Amino acid sequence: MTNYLSAILGMILLLAAPAMAEDTISRDVERDYNYLESLYTYLHQHPELSFHEERTAARIGDELRPLGFEVTQNVGGAGLVAVLKNGDGPTVMLRTDLDALPVREQTNVDYASAVTTMDDLGNQVSVMHACGHDVHMTVFVGTARRLVAMRDQWSGTLVMIGQPAEERGAGARAMLDDGLYERFPLPDYNVALHTSAGMPAGTIGWRAGYALANVDSVDITIHGIGGHGAYPHATRDPVMLAAQIITSLQTLVSRNVSPLEAGVVTVGSIHGGAKHNIISDRVDLQITVRSYTDEVRATLLEGIERIAVNTGRAMGFPEDKLPEVAIRDEHTPATYNDPALANRLAGIFRETFGEADVVETAPVMGGEDFSEYGRTDQKIPGFMFWLGGVAPQKIAQAEESGTALPSLHSPFFAPLPEPTIRRGVEAMTLAALELFGKK
Ligand code: ZN
Ligand code: ZN
Repeated sequence: MTNYLSAILGMILLLAAPAMAEDTISRDVERDYNYLESLYTYLHQHPELSFHEERTAARIGDELRPLGFEVTQNVGGAGLVAVLKNGDGPTVMLRTDLDALPVREQTNVDYASAVTTMDDLGNQVSVMHACGHDVHMTVFVGTARRLVAMRDQWSGTLVMIGQPAEERGAGARAMLDDGLYERFPLPDYNVALHTSAGMPAGTIGWRAGYALANVDSVDITIHGIGGHGAYPHATRDPVMLAAQIITSLQTLVSRNVSPLEAGVVTVGSIHGGAKHNIISDRVDLQITVRSYTDEVRATLLEGIERIAVNTGRAMGFPEDKLPEVAIRDEHTPATYNDPALANRLAGIFRETFGEADVVETAPVMGGEDFSEYGRTDQKIPGFMFWLGGVAPQKIAQAEESGTALPSLHSPFFAPLPEPTIRRGVEAMTLAALELFGKK
């Protein structure tokens, strides 16, 4: 009888244990929230452009050092790597980005950014955390504080990185090139989150497999033989050629890519000509190209070159005046969420936060260079999930009035700090504990 009772008691305790740990996390995050919100306000009011995140990184370093992390600054620019060794076990890497955007904030929140600075081209620009990276950093510090406070409940090595220049798609590569995986413990898993400008504050969106796209930028320089607008036969008109190329490029996705695969070719900029009656000698096109798989990416990039050059030939442009196609090297690879890892962590989120707050989301054609951490030879599984950041009443208003919510990068994007930050810290802490294997 006693054995029977104690077995039942044991079972009850066993069943209650995970719930208790999660209740504790949620309570402790709530207790820590004022501290985190003041950090968030500071970060929001002190945004820095890509590859100029020195002060931001210093502040994050100052938060982590007293917690016992070994902090290395200036990894791949202003990047920061903070390592906490806590016994045997897996190595888990959590990543935040650090940079802000050249956007003039128009949100009307009382902690709005008033920062202006000189950009790399020498222009005076306003700066704003319009992509929520200040939310990411606050969640990152909050997670560090929780995991340190709970260090008797997990063992392993925690690697926390603050990455520069996400907005330029270059910071992850810069950190890897600066020895992230050689100079510091090699992770078994990589986890990150991104604020969502479409989901209610405190909800979570996730997806296994491709979640964000390959992003490529292509420049086409179309040369011509200029002359009088009334004598076109004596010229080679680059405006006409540009028009043909732009239209033909749209056949790439519709005719060269399988209908079951995704791709986008957008000509975002066209510049050429000076006056009504002059045939110009040059037109410049700027194109963004999006895809998920390496194969579709190659099809699109090769196709752009093929169409540009051969349309020039078809229109009788001389061989030394054919369009020049340059693929920019700031390529961001597609974000692929390791399916096993994604399902495992989403399962924990669902169990803890409830089905309604954890939804599977469709992949998007935006890009994120978090993908780089999973594309090295080590093939480390990674998972990036969405953290909803929009006040529910704003979503209701938008639905009622039929207007769109401000997107990421909009001067009007104002995430609701609470509960967004709290839920972010809870989710990241749970994810890390799960991967370490809670004691
Ligand atoms: Zn962004
Ligand atoms: Zn971002």
